[in-house]
Amino acid sequence: MEERLQSIGGIGPQRELQLHSLGIHSVSDLLQYFPRTYEERGKVTSYDSLVAAATVSIVGTVVNIAERKPRRRMSILTVTIQNDEKDREVELTYFNQGYKKSSFFKGQRIHAYGKVDYKFGRWQMNSPEVESITEGHGIGEEIVPIYPVSEHIPQSLLRGAISNWFSSHKTYPKVLPEGISSRYDAMDSYEALKMMHFPSSLGARDEARQFLAYEELLTMQMGLLLLRAMGEQKEAQPFTRGNLVSQCARQLPFKLTGDQRKAWDEISSDLGQHQPMQRLLQGDVGSGKTVVAALALLRAVENHVQGALMVPTEILATQHYESLSEMYEHLPVKIALLTGSMTKKQKEAVYSDLLAGEIDILIGTHALIQEGVEFKHLGLVIIDEQHRFGVEQRAILQQKGLCPHMLIMTATPIPRTMTLSVYGDLEVSTIKEMPPNRKPVKTYVVDSSYDERLRAFFQKEVNAGHQVYVVCPLVEESETLELKSAEEMHEELVAYYPHLAIGLLHGKMKAKDKEAVMAEFLAGRIHILVATTVIEVGVNVPNATIMCITGAERFGLSQLHQLRGRVCRGTHQGYCILVSDSRSRDSRKRLKLMESTEDGFELAEADLLMRGSGELFGRIQHGMADLKVAHILEDLPLLIEAREDAKGFIKTCGLTHCKELMKTELERRFGDDFIRILYT
Ligand code: ADP
Ligand code: MG
Repeated sequence: MEERLQSIGGIGPQRELQLHSLGIHSVSDLLQYFPRTYEERGKVTSYDSLVAAATVSIVGTVVNIAERKPRRRMSILTVTIQNDEKDREVELTYFNQGYKKSSFFKGQRIHAYGKVDYKFGRWQMNSPEVESITEGHGIGEEIVPIYPVSEHIPQSLLRGAISNWFSSHKTYPKVLPEGISSRYDAMDSYEALKMMHFPSSLGARDEARQFLAYEELLTMQMGLLLLRAMGEQKEAQPFTRGNLVSQCARQLPFKLTGDQRKAWDEISSDLGQHQPMQRLLQGDVGSGKTVVAALALLRAVENHVQGALMVPTEILATQHYESLSEMYEHLPVKIALLTGSMTKKQKEAVYSDLLAGEIDILIGTHALIQEGVEFKHLGLVIIDEQHRFGVEQRAILQQKGLCPHMLIMTATPIPRTMTLSVYGDLEVSTIKEMPPNRKPVKTYVVDSSYDERLRAFFQKEVNAGHQVYVVCPLVEESETLELKSAEEMHEELVAYYPHLAIGLLHGKMKAKDKEAVMAEFLAGRIHILVATTVIEVGVNVPNATIMCITGAERFGLSQLHQLRGRVCRGTHQGYCILVSDSRSRDSRKRLKLMESTEDGFELAEADLLMRGSGELFGRIQHGMADLKVAHILEDLPLLIEAREDAKGFIKTCGLTHCKELMKTELERRFGDDFIRILYT
């Protein structure tokens, strides 16, 4: 369906551009652009039963047309219509839409749809949608689709384009191959799509939606399961138990928590298989994922192969390098660091040691997936804070080994329902339990009337030798959003605390500059760090005790939770202060939840319910399309059904054949990157 938009009647270059601005680039995009809601216009309200502020549909005859220009550049068009009994009137008004005047004439019968109000003793309808009623033509569609559009794009553009497509086409290719689900075999994609846009009844629409949601979920599961099945076909080296792991575990300064133990057991068992491990390890910030990763890497080393750990930033790479070096003290393990900022000579030294097998464990950033990085024998790949990497980058690193085991770690915990749908290709281990003796972060929601008190509090913590984060959501001044930009906040704080070192960190800075600021903060040479959300990713500064987030209502709960996880990583009491002047009940409710729980799963679930899946999706699985019809939570039973059906189908029809059947659809939904991984 990559047909061009201009092939549809009534769509010229200009309308095509308007459609582009809605993210619609092809006919298939257009057909998948579903109504936000529907209006039942068929029900015509009589003039006697109008109620102020109700949105209704009325029919009448035009009896008067008048245009007034009370001021320069202001025009008011008033079209008066009368009921059939000729005893009541309604005024249709249009502001600054004088051009509409020519579409009305006296005696014209029209159907108007809009909100009515009673003003100055008259019934009025402001900017209603109208249709002319001509001989033999009733009052238009019964149920009219309302699309999510921006102000400048008329509903009629979408309605017209989609309706024109349906009148000139009578079929739409079926997405699902025959025989997947007996329940839906009889359904027709063309009819289902049409029912979504122009339903004959809302019940029929629900049926169509159900079918399309199933189609969508099934395709998605199929993609994920195929990815997984491909991995399983490969032969990995099964690792046996040696004594490095037990030695390391013995010398740890703490005992593993129950959840760490369990996660490690699961990983250790996977690593003993001939199939490569494909596992996700999820756990809140500070739950202790690193030590589990450290053990897995040692298991590779005791089996005489190499391990790689990839992280999104240089600071994080350095921190991991340091903490692993400490854990491996006295063990015969050679560990090295590779980052983009190293000199060519340093890098080349790493390259040759790596190839010669003189490095056992390599830790680094994206530098790890560059050309030139060749392992002697890469047996295990670990990726930390995976939402910063795409599926493709993960694949490149894997391809540097013959068929390495893979572990992916994330601190964005997601509910089980989501793991099924976004990580359908991975087994999941979860660390819920926090290491013992961790003081909970004290969280407070305040408004900006607390500014003075907060500043005194910052000073007090700094005096005690601690450090402070102040997070602002926007970098540049924006007139519409009354938010203090990070730069402005920085200036303010510099002026307020002349004796303190105030740092600034934002997304527009070069990676190298960001790292430099972060390093200063880590070294304690910056007291207060003003930042945008770039600090989100796992850097550990044990000395920071306050996380102050301004404009807090603008963040998702998971995001706030991640930010909060940046403090309280040492032994001091940590504080998270959420500053928000929002009066909206929803925002207050969301923020209050931050005060009452530190459970990342609970917060993620709440986010999902209150803000939908889109945001979470984007943050978790970079490069994965969002769902257009299905809803991750509401359609859970359907998701499970689709997953089972996909499994069954792959089994009966065989991997190769199934891949061929699904190729077009997978490409349309997941894009090139995904296809390249799956089909090469
Ligand atoms: P994350 O899951 O965010 O990567 P880390 O692995 O960085 O968390 O662990 C956070 C801190 O908790 C580290 O300082 C680590 O040494 C400590 N830690 C990890 N496991 C335990 C444990 N079982 N008991 C006590 N402290 C632990
Ligand atoms: Mg970590």
